[in-house]
Amino acid sequence: MLSDRFKGSLYGLAIGDALGAPIEFEKRDAYTPVTTFREGGPFHLKKGQWTDDTSLALCLGFSLVEKKDFVPEDIMKRFHSWWRQGYMSCTGHCFDIGNTTKAALSRFEESGELFSGAPTDPATNGSIMRLAPVPLFFFREIEKALFYAAESSRLTHAPASCIDACRALGLLIHRALSGKRKEDILLYERGSLGILASDIENVLLGSYKTKSREDISAAGLAHTCLEAALWAFYHTDNFNDGALLAVNLGEDSDTTGAVFGQLAGAYYGFRSIKPEFIDGLWDKELIDKLAMKVFFHVNQFYYEGENPTVDLIVINPADEVLLIRRSKNASACAGMMAFPGGFIDSKAREGEKWLPGLETAETAALRELEEETNLKLTGAEIVFVGEYRGDNRDPRDNETSWSKTHAYVYRIDQKTFEEQKNSIRGMDDADEARWIPLEEARAMKLAFDHNKILEDALLL
Ligand SMILES: [Mg+2]
Repeated sequence: MLSDRFKGSLYGLAIGDALGAPIEFEKRDAYTPVTTFREGGPFHLKKGQWTDDTSLALCLGFSLVEKKDFVPEDIMKRFHSWWRQGYMSCTGHCFDIGNTTKAALSRFEESGELFSGAPTDPATNGSIMRLAPVPLFFFREIEKALFYAAESSRLTHAPASCIDACRALGLLIHRALSGKRKEDILLYERGSLGILASDIENVLLGSYKTKSREDISAAGLAHTCLEAALWAFYHTDNFNDGALLAVNLGEDSDTTGAVFGQLAGAYYGFRSIKPEFIDGLWDKELIDKLAMKVFFHVNQFYYEGENPTVDLIVINPADEVLLIRRSKNASACAGMMAFPGGFIDSKAREGEKWLPGLETAETAALRELEEETNLKLTGAEIVFVGEYRGDNRDPRDNETSWSKTHAYVYRIDQKTFEEQKNSIRGMDDADEARWIPLEEARAMKLAFDHNKILEDALLL
């Protein structure tokens, strides 16, 4: 689910950072391999404490959600106040500023120049390490996500390789958040991001796929760091093993971990992360708070005083779609066939406004499905089809009626289908629930604008 992926990306960043911190700068394999949080390292940190990677990501993320936009001056002020006053540091002061970041913040301090990165600086990994909040915040607009990924780099890291590393990682995180498969996340066609720095393009084209551990560098450049993180992501099949593989490359271990974690957390989701890594993370309430704020920003369409609905198209391996017959008592489209769905739960109503509830559109879709058909799905495969305005489609009281619906499609696998097919039945406000062959469903007159929604879903 989207909320799980958002949380996973930010937690992933901080966990990778905190796992790597105790062995930062150490030559590869000159230490007892990291298996969990430990204290120590060059900055004498406590277990689970994170470093500049996470501090700067928090500065960037809280600026985005509080300003509701990318405001360079506000971001730079927060970066500067981290450096000078320890804002968003887990020890209360800045203990580990990178050279490129320091040079840029010094220029900002002296001249007020916002985009303080210099193209002649070394092409280090200080801008990809903090990137995740940007693709999360601009999740609904991929062009903006890529544009501001580049802008976020230019604040402190202006070499083309740093900027393009941010655009590349931004694209991969965006794909992971969208629920794409790993091979599709990593798929790259030359030219699809325009002209890229050749070292970054080389990584995107798959340099990490064939390299051995010995050939992977963790020395702190943008392109080697991206390569190392993708190497760990590509060669493992879960967050926890991948994070340890990444940080145990040594040297700039915390940043390799942070870059791996942003992407892998978005891909595998928060719930796939070991409880030990979650529970042991320093100040995790801060990470939680940012994840919630950025998620609500992206999903604010259902917190604008409206009370919208969700619809879920479930398709089985035999290419049949699950339809319900709307109850005879339903106030709209009674007796017609429709997708399972219903209102997203709002916490309360205050005057004309529906207040934000804790339920997301995806959670609502799965809950309604279970309430109306008895089919229980986990949510891992849910895919967003689109948002549909429905100004005139529901004759109920306009004030409380849906003004838009969010449609999702879920293709269930053979195993889930076999396990549950005999327990599916119409419940709640569904008089009947049954599987209809897709072609037959397309030819039927479905309730509301469900014919249009179905056609759109089949194009995905
Ligand atoms: Mg660090």
